Amino acid sequence: MTRRVSIFGATGSIGQNTIDLIGRDAAAYDVVALTGGNNIAQLAADAIRLRADVAVTAHDRCLNDLRDALQGTGVAAAAGEAALLEAAERPADWVMSAIVGAAGLAPGFRALRQGATLALANKESLVTAGPLLMAEAVAHGATILPVDSEHSAVFQALVGEDMAAVERIIITASGGGLRDMPLAELRHATVAQAGAHPNWDMGQRITIDSASMFNKAMELIETREFFGIAPDRIEAVIHPQSIIHALVGFSDGALMAHLGPPDMRHAIGYALHWPDRRDLPVARLDLAQIGKLEFQTPCETRYPALRIARNVMETRGKAGAVFNAAKEIALDGFISGRIGFMDMTAVVDATLDVMSREFRLNEAMNTLEEVLAVDHLTRMAAQAQIEQMEQH
Ligand code: NDP
Repeated sequence: MTRRVSIFGATGSIGQNTIDLIGRDAAAYDVVALTGGNNIAQLAADAIRLRADVAVTAHDRCLNDLRDALQGTGVAAAAGEAALLEAAERPADWVMSAIVGAAGLAPGFRALRQGATLALANKESLVTAGPLLMAEAVAHGATILPVDSEHSAVFQALVGEDMAAVERIIITASGGGLRDMPLAELRHATVAQAGAHPNWDMGQRITIDSASMFNKAMELIETREFFGIAPDRIEAVIHPQSIIHALVGFSDGALMAHLGPPDMRHAIGYALHWPDRRDLPVARLDLAQIGKLEFQTPCETRYPALRIARNVMETRGKAGAVFNAAKEIALDGFISGRIGFMDMTAVVDATLDVMSREFRLNEAMNTLEEVLAVDHLTRMAAQAQIEQMEQH
């Protein structure tokens, strides 16, 4: 039987890896919707090759190009936010959520409402709206499967285990592209330096977030929300080789580690075939050749994002949405050269402080609209922080 699949963020790094896996066995899948943003040529080529029902670009201004590229192919073209939501409502068995940023939130919610299995790469969904998202899945009998490699690793280590016996979850961090740069020089790090990852080949934003460890901060929060484990039982450890992705510690002292090559097709493939395991085209590890695996405690002076994540995990409520929106604006500021690498933390800290005077950060949010309103207000506050920094 063919499975109906949709891929949100199909033109990105995760989306292309997903298409690689699906394209290897195209007859097994009925592709419902593929979505992208600016990369119309890629979106159209994949939609034609995989015979998708519809291809959607997030940007209205790209619709004519998409229509031209799809003319006569039988693939429908659509554009804009409403079209993304409509695509998420099209019945599908499995939906990949791989749009980058908070823009990925609403389509994921829609997919859950139609009871689909949501393969969740979009970190922002759990960070900004974890409790709501998990509740939405339960309410509609939908399943969320983690795609972030660390959470997929934890998920796999937990198969057949009782959460009551879990003492701690440890997620690993490579340390990113600036791991060996002296602390004093970090403030001068460039976008090119921060955007070069030693082990993983990923999109620019997540690669820079790896260097600042905002990515690990997001993953700590995701761990808290997805697995429902107390913040003081979640740890991050630097592991430069990126071979172990996560470990789960049990009450009998056992630590179950998940090892795999740094290739996102493993976690994507696991979510695609879950609960089965199928052959995947990823390299097999040669442990003797790897030789040694190293671990270090991350220094919070170097990686202040981890300290912020602890506060966000304790506070919950609106704190995750504020943290994520402030981080996205700070990252934009760094990429566009408006602020320095270490200023990103200052922007996030200051924005959390400003927003804590707007409303109680630990207050729960009950609707997606409320999440998006907090997101919007926070973005304006974070922009104001960057403007203030530019003036000094
Ligand atoms: P990319 O930047 O490579 O791709 C992002 C995708 O989202 C592209 O298809 C892009 O379209 C689309 N997009 C961008 N802006 C919008 C918007 N406003 N509305 C709708 N679509 C948009 O990102 P990644 O694939 O690296 O990451 C995707 C998500 O997965 C992120 O949340 C990331 O944190 C997470 N993730 C990524 C991992 C990785 O290895 N890359 C690992 C784990 C999680 P276009 O390119 O056509 O403009």
